[in-house]
Amino acid sequence: MQVLSFSEALTVVQQHSSGLSPTEPELVSLLDGVRLALAEDLVADRDFPPFPRATRDGYAVRSEDVSSMPAKLHCVGELRAGASLEQSSVTVKPGEAVEIMTGAPVPSGADAVVMVEYTDRNGEGVTVKRTVTAGENVVPAGSEARKGTVMASRGTRVNHVTVAVAAAVGRAEVAVYRRPRVAVLATGDELVDINFAPGPNEIRNSNSYSLAAQVHEAGGEAVILPVAHDEAAELEVLIRKGAECDLLLLSGGVSMGKYDLVEHALSKLGAQFFFTGVLIQPGKPLVFGELRGANKATPFFGLPGNPASTMVTFQLFVRPVLDALAGARQQAPLFAQARLKSDFKIKPGLTRFLPARLDGTHGQPEVELLKWQGSGDLMALAQANCYIVVPPDKEHFAMGENITVLSF
Ligand code: AMP
Ligand code: MG
Repeated sequence: MQVLSFSEALTVVQQHSSGLSPTEPELVSLLDGVRLALAEDLVADRDFPPFPRATRDGYAVRSEDVSSMPAKLHCVGELRAGASLEQSSVTVKPGEAVEIMTGAPVPSGADAVVMVEYTDRNGEGVTVKRTVTAGENVVPAGSEARKGTVMASRGTRVNHVTVAVAAAVGRAEVAVYRRPRVAVLATGDELVDINFAPGPNEIRNSNSYSLAAQVHEAGGEAVILPVAHDEAAELEVLIRKGAECDLLLLSGGVSMGKYDLVEHALSKLGAQFFFTGVLIQPGKPLVFGELRGANKATPFFGLPGNPASTMVTFQLFVRPVLDALAGARQQAPLFAQARLKSDFKIKPGLTRFLPARLDGTHGQPEVELLKWQGSGDLMALAQANCYIVVPPDKEHFAMGENITVLSF
């Protein structure tokens, strides 16, 4: 038995993850890359913006011409977004202005855009009622990124922003690391699958699906194996099968019960264990190790079977391993602070992750602990959107104090 503190276990997982190689790169069409990690840098193919861009509708002017109010200028033309090169090659001379729209190129001579709201137009005459400083409402060419600049680097998980960057630099396809294949193996004699009616003492297998969803969210491909009975030979066969994937997740069967056979089955197959417990709740019996085959090593987790334990331990410990396999930059869990809505008391000794509801407007997040019956309480989790993180050495928590939270 090797039981670690929360931070020790996290360190072991992070260290192991940093030694893992990502899956092989592949070229996919842009939107198929969402949630996967870039296997290449996305580089600016031109200056951003490529021309000095007006950020307001109004008049392109020479700021020195509008330094005393009101200023009367002569409008010599119009530039809209997408204006042709000939149209945009006008020059604004002293005393002149060009009517301009957001996204249009600011013509030479002009160094600022005065917003249309601060002008009056009369034929070709424009009265400017507010001064502007040089550069106001204009983004200079190349000021966001010069041609050749890396705009999103290898290891970035593709999200809507990365997609925008790729599109902006003309990439209909991007190189990403292949989705790691993650075997999901639920264990337990009491489990029946979704499509079957459970007997009075049976429960439905929900972990295979919640895990598959978490794998999917993390850019992996879940391979759901048949539920294993609490029976050694059957477990071994399915573990062998699961070890063919890039990562193996077992759920259930890692506690101290007589029929908790997962660790035993893994040992029989020659597994190396990095730890076999973590001082957290939910999730204390968590097991992490590696199965070495003839030509590859497969990391595995034995996740405790209670639904909350499975979910929390995935988020905290499986995710870094999956990130590494997916080629994504390591991202430690993002803990935040929120104001506690009501007092509570808890037994010290473990780092706890308690279902809670985080809300509040900008800058004033507030969190409420939810009533729950322990790690099997799916109902409480369904009301929650975060965990309150309770350190192992504190017993009393008072309304109004700041407390650590971890969002789902
Ligand atoms: P175990 O970790 O096997 O001792 O299981 C702990 C608790 O989680 C028991 O109440 C199990 O019935 C429940 N459980 C185990 N596996 C699953 C699963 N796949 N889906 C839902 N509940 C489960
Ligand atoms: Mg069990």
